[in-house]
Amino acid sequence: MTQAITVNSRSYRLSIAPTIVICIDGCEQDYINQAVQAGQAPFLAKLTGIGTVLTGDCVIPSFTNPNNLSIVTGAPPSVHGICGNFFFDQDTQKEVLMNDAKYLRAPTILAELAKAGQLVAVVTAKDKLRSLLGHQLKGICFSAEKADQVNIEEHGIENILARVDMPMPSVYSAELSEFVFAAGLSLLVNERPDFMYLSTTDYIQHKHAPGTPQANTFYAMMDNYFQRFHDAGAILAITADHGMNAKTDAVGRPNIVFLQDLLDIRYGAKGVRVLLPITDPYVVHHGALGSYATVYLRSSVEQADVIAFLTGIAGIECVLTRAQAADRFELPEDRIGDLIVLAERLTVLGTAAEEHDLSGLAVPLRSHGGVSEQKVPLIFNRKLSGFSIPDRLRNFDIIDIALNHLT
Ligand code: ZN
Ligand code: ZN
Repeated sequence: MTQAITVNSRSYRLSIAPTIVICIDGCEQDYINQAVQAGQAPFLAKLTGIGTVLTGDCVIPSFTNPNNLSIVTGAPPSVHGICGNFFFDQDTQKEVLMNDAKYLRAPTILAELAKAGQLVAVVTAKDKLRSLLGHQLKGICFSAEKADQVNIEEHGIENILARVDMPMPSVYSAELSEFVFAAGLSLLVNERPDFMYLSTTDYIQHKHAPGTPQANTFYAMMDNYFQRFHDAGAILAITADHGMNAKTDAVGRPNIVFLQDLLDIRYGAKGVRVLLPITDPYVVHHGALGSYATVYLRSSVEQADVIAFLTGIAGIECVLTRAQAADRFELPEDRIGDLIVLAERLTVLGTAAEEHDLSGLAVPLRSHGGVSEQKVPLIFNRKLSGFSIPDRLRNFDIIDIALNHLT
């Protein structure tokens, strides 16, 4: 008899072989395609034969935290509550950072697997995700960013830096992600967790387009680890939190719509507040610019007029009311604005020009956040078994497929 757990109304079988779910941050599908075509990802190239390669939709906003939380809860943000890095609290009139687990409204599959007796390990690149992913998890959970501070009481393991044959990586580096895989391999070989979740950072994808030498080298590094996980007998399930696109014109200048500036001119400085939920403590590589914004209206401002005004701006793809956005993108109504604004594929949204420090953008801007970054891969090193692919596959179906529907 196979044991199973139920989490957020979905049922999951306990893992019977070490299962590794990998979230490649910012993995536009063309990165894999280009690395495969260049002969630099031989393991991934084999998976159309020995495994399964599918495409699904991530959640909107196509940002890191909402999608990582969707993947580990198997549910959209309307269920788990994390719909960005920030929301605006109408009661306190303050912008609130949502990196803390107290904002999480649903249990994770990770914590429930551990409660059912499985050994669960989580390794993230950046520390900002650790407290959310590790919420109520009795197991191993640490970040590469703070690998030098890992201890038994807090992280369920120790001496990880000594075990991984790599120097302590910088937070802005490809090595931060490489460390995640090196640590994952060490855990797989030594502790052999029943279930592991590995989550990288999109530092490379923000800087380098698919098929560039730097991108191909990064994917070759990951491909090598995937092969080693496979050789060690692991079930692999690989997806992404979101895609990535250039947000520039033909000569690499960023296409930015500074919403707060435009709205201040039309409605006055106190009429409308723009909040960018991509804003976080690590903004150097994207200048806090993405293709998704939330807008809060003061009572004197007429919503229909703002919608008409914003919709008419070049580069804006769509403007939705709170109810429309909550319905279409399965978002928690109390944590989004009066309006949600999405930019077209080549455009990002800013607040006021003076709020964005673009001096760190050494290369043409690449970012995400919109519907144009919604397509992500779902890749497995096993064939499907008894699974009919739904019309709309989601990245947060990946644990269901990994535990319930592979040979
Ligand atoms: Zn991301
Ligand atoms: Zn990013």
